[in-house]
Amino acid sequence: MMNLTQNQKKILHEIDGGKDSHWRDWKWQLKHSVRDLDTFERLLDIRLPEKLRNNFMKIVEKFPMSITPYYLSLINTADIANDPVFKQSFPVINELDIQSTDMSDPLHEDKDSPVPGLTHRYPDRVLMLVSNICSMYCRHCTRKRRVGDQDTIPDRAQIEKCIDYIKKTPQVRDVLLSGGDPFLLSDEYLDWILTELRKIEHVEVVRIGTRTPVVMPYRITDDLVNMLKKHHPLWINTHFNHPRELTNSSRIALSKLADAGIPLGNQSVLLAGVNDCPRIMRSLVQKLVYNRVRPYYLYQCDLSEGLSHFRTPVGKGIEILESLIGHTSGFCVPTYVIDAPGGGGKIPVMPNYLISWSTNKVVLRNYEGVITSYKEPDSYEATFCDRNCDKCDLELALNDADERRSVGIERLLADYDDAISLVPADNSRHERRA
Ligand SMILES: *Cc1c(COP(=O)(O)O)cnc(C)c1O
Repeated sequence: MMNLTQNQKKILHEIDGGKDSHWRDWKWQLKHSVRDLDTFERLLDIRLPEKLRNNFMKIVEKFPMSITPYYLSLINTADIANDPVFKQSFPVINELDIQSTDMSDPLHEDKDSPVPGLTHRYPDRVLMLVSNICSMYCRHCTRKRRVGDQDTIPDRAQIEKCIDYIKKTPQVRDVLLSGGDPFLLSDEYLDWILTELRKIEHVEVVRIGTRTPVVMPYRITDDLVNMLKKHHPLWINTHFNHPRELTNSSRIALSKLADAGIPLGNQSVLLAGVNDCPRIMRSLVQKLVYNRVRPYYLYQCDLSEGLSHFRTPVGKGIEILESLIGHTSGFCVPTYVIDAPGGGGKIPVMPNYLISWSTNKVVLRNYEGVITSYKEPDSYEATFCDRNCDKCDLELALNDADERRSVGIERLLADYDDAISLVPADNSRHERRA
């Protein structure tokens, strides 16, 4: 067995008694996932401080632990208290510190769900939870309410209900598979789901969200990749939070996916004590790009129960973006988003670059602090849009089916809509008018 780290050899020896083994076999990794304190300590050959040992049972009763031997091997036992891998995988008592503003389902994924397992939040795309299993239970999971609930896979009948909904909802052009981790399904089952989705004409893109390249990179086998290749256009988003997670094994997994022509994105979560540092984030995003992964989102930590110790002020995220925009390649910079509690969806947040404005000039500042102005055109004739494309000089051949209702601020800006304000449904001034 080549190229295992000292830690990995030690863990392998403890589990399999030194037999030449299956370190790179993902089913072996899954089978030997660490779920209890004794095994955790034995495999790493450490004894944790009492502060961390205490209450272990109490915490895992509510939020269970599971760590693959591979991810465990990344823990730096010389400095465990500050270790980013440890902090993402080992339960701490703060998880039971539930604040009055915490919620079990802050994003209303269960509420905005026309069929169990499917969330339809945005007009043209849906989220499908195809697996309730993960190989590693992230301590910062936004679906913590479900972790370890039932390590089950929705059966074909359940998946078929979701697929039927998509079939009869022609505006859905993008389907996100998440979970759980979709890559914990067998190749055959995932192949079946993708095949069924591909039969639907209006589904243009399928996306898969998976953390296996980070926590169990051996899941990315040649067989899996060859199966995925049949279902293009397929996009994959993964979830690296710290540059330490980009190991050789992870990089091999990523290059297999990229070589299969799959565009790769990364969704990080901003986590106190893990990556709330502009220098760590810069190193992470640059390493991702070097491995052909485009940083996609940086999430503000959600208001799910058990995550309070991970949350940072929003200002920390803005500070990180301030240190990225302009300072490094544009495609290294993720969009920083707050996923609105109550199901409002992702809201982008960033530093202000527009400082002032007159009728023909805008004043801007750049990343260096230079204040500059941009002269706007003296005469600009906007093309009036009444959605009569046949009459318009700009060329766009739309089908009637492509038309959609304008929504939100877009609607206030549109020529073809005479709405002048957006008013909350329970506005009492408006109620009195009736
Ligand atoms: C994040 C998310 C999406 C996808 O949003 P994008 O901004 O297109 O990546 C879709 N549905 C739900 C419920 C989501 O949470």
